[in-house]
Amino acid sequence: MRKLFIIENGSDLARETADRMTELLGKGFEVSREDPSDADMVLVFGGDGAFLHGLESWGFPEAPILGINTGHLGFFQELLPEDTELFKQFCSGKGFTLQTYRLLKAQVYSSKGEQTVLAINDFTIRDRGAKVARLCVTIDDKLVERFFGDGFIVASCAGSTAYSYSLGGCIVDPRLESIQLTPMAPINSKALRSFTSSMMFPPTSSLTIEPMEGSSLDLGVYADGMDIDPGEIIKVKFSLSEKRIHVVRKQDYDFWGKVESKFL
Ligand code: NAP
Ligand code: MN
Repeated sequence: MRKLFIIENGSDLARETADRMTELLGKGFEVSREDPSDADMVLVFGGDGAFLHGLESWGFPEAPILGINTGHLGFFQELLPEDTELFKQFCSGKGFTLQTYRLLKAQVYSSKGEQTVLAINDFTIRDRGAKVARLCVTIDDKLVERFFGDGFIVASCAGSTAYSYSLGGCIVDPRLESIQLTPMAPINSKALRSFTSSMMFPPTSSLTIEPMEGSSLDLGVYADGMDIDPGEIIKVKFSLSEKRIHVVRKQDYDFWGKVESKFL
């Protein structure tokens, strides 16, 4: 018996597609929406949002994750609702490759204490209002920048095609394990100087971002776009987590082909 765990984004289309496709499987499969812990495969019906938020809400399951795109872009989703033959084959555990993504980690120190949060794509740290965020950036214990602007995106290679890309960050081949720090509207004037390009760091680096002394900021921290509501921020330390997710891809999967088809 192969156990399949289902995540849907709540839309009618995702629900109908999940029902229709899992009915095709017939005997030998057990479908659940309650417990991913012993699943052989996780199926996500929806777009990237369903993928990101669904996996987060189930604690980033270890099993291979197969995405079926019923959303808009679907960068993580490998199949379309009409790919029924591949769907049956993949659910039987055959004919795919796995793409592994390392998660990003944020250790948040705030008025509420300390918490650790994981993300697949990115963290956003920025002022919640329309004030200039004044932030100190420390790379591996060395203060590197006093930043003035809207804030930062801290992106994994998976997130390099999401928010970071919209802000002029580079697209990172997922074989290059890394952390990218992308500034949001950096000010670079005679009075205030900030780096204007994004910066890339090796997987062993940690980045600490904290409000400059004396600056009164109402900082928000968002994990894959979700507000973690941390209270008053003292500092946030970003690094790569040891935790990974494994995404089902076609055998001829090619990252740059996917980038070309989704963006050009
Ligand atoms: P959303 O507000 O629905 O839109 C984000 C868009 O980015 C959607 O089209 C989504 O695809 C796509 N996307 C998500 N992850 C991607 C990836 N790794 N590569 C390429 N495109 C990707 O938000 P959401 O769907 O919940 O996704 C959360 C993500 O949105 C955050 O992690 C952040 O990176 C991104 N975001 C981007 C901007 C911006 O570009 N200005 C602003 C805020 C947040 P689907 O259509 O398949 O959902
Ligand atoms: Mn979305």
